[in-house]
Amino acid sequence: MAFINIDHRQQQVSFAQAVVKGLGKNRGLFFPRQLSPLQDIPALLRMDFIDRSTVILQHLAGPEIQRKWLEKAFDFPLPLNRVSERVHALELFHGPSLAFKDFGARFMAQCLAEFSAGKKTTILTATSGDTGAAVAQAFYGQEHIDVVVLYPRGKVTPLQEKLFCTLGGNIRTVAVEDDFDACQDLVKQSFDDPELVQTLGLNSANSINVARLLAQVCYYFEALAKLPPGTRPVFSVPSGNFGNVTAALLAIVVGLPAKRVIAATNCNDTVPRFFKDGRWDPKPTVATLTNAMDISLPNNFPRVLELQKNHGLNLPRLLTSFAVDDAETRLAVRELDDLAYLADPHSALAWKALSLDLAKDETGVFLCTAHPAKFIETIEDVLQKPITLPRELERVCQKDVLSTVMPADYHSLREFLLSR
Ligand SMILES: *Cc1c(COP(=O)(O)O)cnc(C)c1O
Repeated sequence: MAFINIDHRQQQVSFAQAVVKGLGKNRGLFFPRQLSPLQDIPALLRMDFIDRSTVILQHLAGPEIQRKWLEKAFDFPLPLNRVSERVHALELFHGPSLAFKDFGARFMAQCLAEFSAGKKTTILTATSGDTGAAVAQAFYGQEHIDVVVLYPRGKVTPLQEKLFCTLGGNIRTVAVEDDFDACQDLVKQSFDDPELVQTLGLNSANSINVARLLAQVCYYFEALAKLPPGTRPVFSVPSGNFGNVTAALLAIVVGLPAKRVIAATNCNDTVPRFFKDGRWDPKPTVATLTNAMDISLPNNFPRVLELQKNHGLNLPRLLTSFAVDDAETRLAVRELDDLAYLADPHSALAWKALSLDLAKDETGVFLCTAHPAKFIETIEDVLQKPITLPRELERVCQKDVLSTVMPADYHSLREFLLSR
């Protein structure tokens, strides 16, 4: 399949090139040049998840996608839980990093392993917690690929740190004695160092890699497959960089029979304000309870506009966007607990937006993007009761953190990178 750089339309690449490059010229995003509808949706919905995902990803990316990559990437459960009369929770957090980012990161890892076969590859990435965990887990044990994850020392939760800094093997983690921006700066400096890029085969596996986006299309179809035939649900998506929402809209363009999508944000509400008055007016980012969504410049939003401009998406009819503040989010965690459903703050925020907007005759699905245990401190504070950790997590908590502590200094990092 052909992919174009949406900022530089004359740059056209294959799927493999789009995945390996990550970003196009002038930091433009890659996107499928053409999108055609999937055939026979009812038959597709009757297939099992892996078979169906193979058909979808071959349709979007090309025949080189192999079923066995998806068997490896999507090797964890994906339940749909009924929470009330017409509201369901799509639980995307049963992968190794306990967040939905496992879908995208694990598919990307399979693609990169295949497309860079034989060449030395080093994935260098900075994280404020969640992305690094998904990337580290996804590449753990992959031959010929080394992973180095930088994170701000003391600024990720202890559980987050245990999830990606205890692996060892081909995963090295660096606790930088500074903030997340400093980590990102170090990554940028490394990519500006041609000798380092060449010697190590540096790749950023960043969050806007098109492989991650395409992988996320698959679980929207799974939700439909699990609902009674003929149901056209409304999806509510907790949104930060808008990758998940882009995947939902992309799914609709190729034939997902969903009714519409709600993009739920926290107080970092650039998009809801844009929909209200048509002005793109990002404000400084503020910290909230739903910290994975503390983003005021959503980097996937150009892809949403691309779907509208060049693929016939009726954006005003299909997408609404709401902001939900911290007080409402806390209330939502409590209200869901009353319904006997334990949700992390991000998932609860999506539920809140859904309950404010769902019409009487509609069925709703909210996306649960993180395991509640990942935000145990907030949940225990809101509910005023102790939460027990699942057994797999208790095991992780007993392991040692293997990170190297380092000042935010490029020369130290460079030496560290070249030492293997
Ligand atoms: C990354 C993340 C989000 C936001 O997803 P986007 O695709 O960036 O909009 C929401 N919830 C959790 C738990 C996340 O980790």
